[in-house]
Amino acid sequence: MSDDSRALAEPVEVARAIEMLERASSVTVLCHVQPDADTIGSGLAIGTALERRGVRVQVAFAAPSSLPQSMDDMPSRHLLVDAHDVAETVDLVVTVDAGSRDRLGSLADRLDTASASLVIDHHRSNTRFGTVNMVVASAESTTAVIANLFDRWGVEIDADLAHLLYAGLVTDTGSFRWVRPGSHLLAERLLATGIDGARIARTLLDTHPFNWLPMLGNVLGSAALLPDAADGGGLVYAVIRSEDAAGLRSEEIESVIDIVRTTSEAEVAAVLKQQDFTSVWVVSLRSKTKVDVSAVAYTLGGGGHRNAAGYTATGQLDDVIDALCKALSSS
Ligand code: 5GP
Ligand code: MN
Repeated sequence: MSDDSRALAEPVEVARAIEMLERASSVTVLCHVQPDADTIGSGLAIGTALERRGVRVQVAFAAPSSLPQSMDDMPSRHLLVDAHDVAETVDLVVTVDAGSRDRLGSLADRLDTASASLVIDHHRSNTRFGTVNMVVASAESTTAVIANLFDRWGVEIDADLAHLLYAGLVTDTGSFRWVRPGSHLLAERLLATGIDGARIARTLLDTHPFNWLPMLGNVLGSAALLPDAADGGGLVYAVIRSEDAAGLRSEEIESVIDIVRTTSEAEVAAVLKQQDFTSVWVVSLRSKTKVDVSAVAYTLGGGGHRNAAGYTATGQLDDVIDALCKALSSS
């Protein structure tokens, strides 16, 4: 793959990142809270490359306490440690797919006790909270940024690394719907190592228990359309209450936004996910073309990408929806 087919991090950032990675003898790799396949694939890929160099390395995320089940068969899972077991101080902390410090949850304090930190990410809202920041907003996934880093660093991408990188690429591109020149070249290169792309995608994206179907029935059945919201662009939203989510995995909950956002009458889609029967709501936002939901989420305390973002709100459901409509009308 030629370098010029892809948007790259500034060469000076890549050089500094490699220098940091080569110098460290103990490294903690931090993934974001409520991890997805991009952050875990990225974290385990960096962890694997470091482990092969003989570096002491841990990979962790602050919450929840266990890895989503669909990621159980990712290579190098042995590198993952419990949040409680993360070393207090190391030479280097590397964060992957986290747009801001708060996305690291209770492990954010490890940034302060490490000698240095390296932020690897693709969120346009990234606050550049590391000593060195390798942030490529045009990259499809953080794993795509890491593939590029590996090429510069001389790390050979074998089948195990390809599995991890492909996991982030296939999920963050929505199974290759949101692609750009170079996306398929990277996919092809990873598949050529012999990984089973169909199986990776099916495991991560297309496998749900039967109870997912009645949950969808309830939640989608009470979805609402506000045509005047977002300056007339329209907002469609659905609410997942804790009783709807009972017994289901994060994979089932996170799938709902992908159905809601297909509504043709709405530029913006939202799913409000109640947290453990409290008045705390984790909100997913998606837009089609016009609205920058990353900016909307930012005004509400979150962040993300132009067309996919999120935030957490506390309060009565009606008030949370009102606040969202207000933020949308001033966006
Ligand atoms: P999702 O709706 O899939 O959870 O998140 C969509 C995008 O928004 C992801 O790229 C995610 O990193 C980002 N995002 C979601 N929630 C938050 C949040 O609370 N803070 C920030 N900074 N980004 C978020
Ligand atoms: Mn990502």
